[in-house]
Amino acid sequence: MRSLRLASLDKTHWKELVLAAELLDGKKTALAIRAEIKDDAAALKESQGITPLLLAILVGEDPASMVYVRNKERACTKAGIASRVERIPGTTTEDELLAMIQSANEDASVNGILVQLPLPDHISEKRVLDAIHPLKDVDAFHPENVGLMMQGRPRFLPCTPHGVMQILHRYNIPVSGKHVVVVGRSEIVGKPLAAMLVQRESSLGKDAVNATVTICHSRTNDLAAITNSADVLVAAVGRANFITADMVKPGCVVVDVGINRVDDKLVGDVEFDTVREKASHITPVPGGVGPLTIAMLLRNTLTAAELQR
Ligand code: NAP
Repeated sequence: MRSLRLASLDKTHWKELVLAAELLDGKKTALAIRAEIKDDAAALKESQGITPLLLAILVGEDPASMVYVRNKERACTKAGIASRVERIPGTTTEDELLAMIQSANEDASVNGILVQLPLPDHISEKRVLDAIHPLKDVDAFHPENVGLMMQGRPRFLPCTPHGVMQILHRYNIPVSGKHVVVVGRSEIVGKPLAAMLVQRESSLGKDAVNATVTICHSRTNDLAAITNSADVLVAAVGRANFITADMVKPGCVVVDVGINRVDDKLVGDVEFDTVREKASHITPVPGGVGPLTIAMLLRNTLTAAELQR
């Protein structure tokens, strides 16, 4: 149901009807997905005696990373998934971290391995992520899993893009045939999301894919002209309030992936208050894509346990 706001303009009681976008509630959607995962985890335990285990490795003491890992730990517990966190100093060498991953790869009790990013500068993220066994790669960053996803036969789906797909699907927003503009081409959000949207088939149905996708980045010419042609606009830029109302077509569905800290407050990449008056649907920050990312990580951990069974 779209919310309506009536504003009196003058003494003649002219009223302007302002349509505000429907909120795509990531918190509520994530709770529903987590409840499904909890049921599936209970069924796995019942039928096979297996409780999936997620190992999170946190290098150093980045405050945001510490919060993310704690949230993931809590979410696991609530879903009936076991978790273990290895907190290691920021001075850990790359070889030490690789040895730790190797031992987790060989440990049959560990189903999923997550290395919290970013890593300290002296450690190569690529080398570390490539070292995770593809069957335990619950972030879906390993080249083998990226390749399978690109070919439309995914083993695991990357968590944040999958969260975006889920929220659109669960709010009955089809993307098939629509122009979806993704601003951002990172390996963890923009690029995989574009690859997922353009597939022919998906477990979510054909309407959830088959989009016509444009990927934009810092070298895109006339970005506003492109975003203004979007039926669905996804912002994954990492700049507070970057997408403004003049960049959005009326009735557009706006998904804000950005998480930026401004004056100790979390804000997205979209100027929420102005854009919501033009969009038909919009995700808030916080409470939008963020909670879904964690839910999809739990789903991958469960899938990993099933695959390794
Ligand atoms: P990233 O690796 O820094 O990528 C940012 C992308 O934005 C790059 O492709 C960059 O283009 C593009 N960009 C930068 N300035 C631009 C401009 N002026 N015009 C057009 N494009 C521009 O970031 P990321 O890892 O994808 O993350 C993006 C945001 O999402 C961040 O705020 C991050 O915190 C957030 N995030 C949220 C979640 C979640 O769970 N909700 C998960 C992951 C990330 P170039 O490639 O040309 O540099």
